[in-house]
Amino acid sequence: MSEQFNPSKAPCPICGNRQFSWGRTVDSQGGWLYSRENMAGLGGGESLIIRKCFSCKNVQLFTQELAFTQVLEID
Ligand SMILES: [Zn+2]
Repeated sequence: MSEQFNPSKAPCPICGNRQFSWGRTVDSQGGWLYSRENMAGLGGGESLIIRKCFSCKNVQLFTQELAFTQVLEID
């Protein structure tokens, strides 16, 4: 049985560590930060979640769609 690629389990691209904490993005008012593609109209976009590496402290962004399509391992 082949395992489907799961980006949430991919190692840190900076240091190779595999331990992360997960969370969401916030602005100064506590709202989400969004990614908006050039073709998306005003009001379009996807809210962003974060993955922080325990080792090097790098933070990666993923669209929230990942949280719905993958089972995230939250420590
Ligand atoms: Zn790292």
